[in-house]
Amino acid sequence: MQEKEIKFTVQVYKGADELSAEDAALVAKAKGALVNAYAPYSNFKVGAAVLLSNGEVVTGTNQENASFPVGICAEGTALSTASSLYPDTAIEAIAVTAKSGNHVLNKPVAPCGVCRQRILEYETRYKHDIKVIMIGEEGEVYKVSTVKDLLPLFFSNSDL
Ligand SMILES: [Zn+2]
Repeated sequence: MQEKEIKFTVQVYKGADELSAEDAALVAKAKGALVNAYAPYSNFKVGAAVLLSNGEVVTGTNQENASFPVGICAEGTALSTASSLYPDTAIEAIAVTAKSGNHVLNKPVAPCGVCRQRILEYETRYKHDIKVIMIGEEGEVYKVSTVKDLLPLFFSNSDL
């Protein structure tokens, strides 16, 4: 038996104002989308913004349902919309943010496990890494250069 250590690198920024102009603009789009979230049950609004390689930005928000499992994450709505509108266009980056009705989110909010898998699908589909930018309402920003960093030992189409 041997142990295998798997490492990943996350870039940590003190705040959104330390990001590049392109990343800061994407974060601003994600934050701007929060107002469209439909989260009457959790009161936890999530916004996502997807930057495509053609320069277009598509946003999404969480859409909850009285039948809880039916709800859709913000990343899911943004990615599905982007893929529906621009099916032949690779995705460069996704920014994710959230706003809680219960407390101030002062740390980065990360995609849930399902959404990490969703993002991975578009990485493998377009054979192009997707940057993931994570931010709360305030505080540090985390950025990884590929969703694989958030999903070690991932399952993808190469396993089928
Ligand atoms: Zn999710």
